[in-house]
Amino acid sequence: VITCRAAVAWAPGKPLSIEEVEVAPPKAGEVRIKIVATGICHSDEHILKGSIPNVEFPVIPGHEGAGIVESIGEGVTSVKPGDKVIPLCVPQCGECSYCLNPESNFCQKSHMFEPQNLLPDKTSRFTCKGKQIHHFLWVSTFAEYTVVPEYSVAKIDAAAPLEKVCLFGCGFSTGYGAAINTAKVKPGSTCAVFGLGGVGLSVVMGCKAAGASRIIAVDINKDKFAKAKELGATDCINPRDFKKPIQEVLTEMTGQGVDYSFEVIGLAETMIAALASCNMSTGICVMIGVLNSGSEISIDPMLVLTGRTWKGTMLGG
Ligand code: NAD
Ligand code: ZN
Repeated sequence: VITCRAAVAWAPGKPLSIEEVEVAPPKAGEVRIKIVATGICHSDEHILKGSIPNVEFPVIPGHEGAGIVESIGEGVTSVKPGDKVIPLCVPQCGECSYCLNPESNFCQKSHMFEPQNLLPDKTSRFTCKGKQIHHFLWVSTFAEYTVVPEYSVAKIDAAAPLEKVCLFGCGFSTGYGAAINTAKVKPGSTCAVFGLGGVGLSVVMGCKAAGASRIIAVDINKDKFAKAKELGATDCINPRDFKKPIQEVLTEMTGQGVDYSFEVIGLAETMIAALASCNMSTGICVMIGVLNSGSEISIDPMLVLTGRTWKGTMLGG
């Protein structure tokens, strides 16, 4: 058993608290990782508010980390102690019909099918002050050591700088993949990205890499615009600078609407605005932001009937 520090969320609505926790050794098929770096994704903030479904408290959040394998359980063959790894918040069991479909990055062992608050054997490897602490998506990277199933770990290059590549654990892969894999942005196309956090900026990078000729970045915080331009945005607009709805502004700027739009905030109103901003014939809108658990969106069906496509993405497909 390793004793180390972790950021524990004891209950919804309470801030994280840094605690000393005990991390049990990996059982068969599991890997214990020394987490060297972790990013903070807005989804971690959603957990603290209690707005992610199927999360149980107390919990150690964090799902955008990188580290070094400390020890392995019986039967683990894909990694060994000392390997640099990124834990995967969407598992890859390699056996379910989703994993076997090359078009999909999703896995039926993910939390949309069964809770990932305990490891697959339904026990936790974390305790704190005598209490069992839950895992989050089986990764819990806000701990100095964590235990994850072997099929939730990707081995990476030994030279990878962990404080940078931790972003592949969620934010970068999600945004970049949303442009490349989910939208399949074409060269010369026009894109709009709503929300310029770590994930939205990664969408901008993906659109640029795919050869988009115009990338319009949308945010209510203009401090995000310099970084967005550096990464490939051609125009940056703040919806609060306009009297008319942002979808009308984008439609006017582009003639008939953008070819691809991405919602990377997590609000119903911006999801509808993003859908309405892409052109009615062939436009593709990708939903990335996470809405509060239990929310619903209502749309004018004509938005889709005429030919727009509305898609979502988990971890960038
Ligand atoms: P973030 O908080 O860093 O960035 C959000 C940005 O949206 C901010 O720059 C903010 O100023 C801007 N914003 C807020 N309200 C706005 C509005 N009304 N109009 C325009 N801009 C507005 O968040 P992040 O970490 O980049 O994550 C973005 C979203 O993506 C979150 O909802 C997160 O949960 C979700 N997410 C989804 C996946 C997935 O697999 N689908 C993966 C990671 C994150
Ligand atoms: Zn995330």
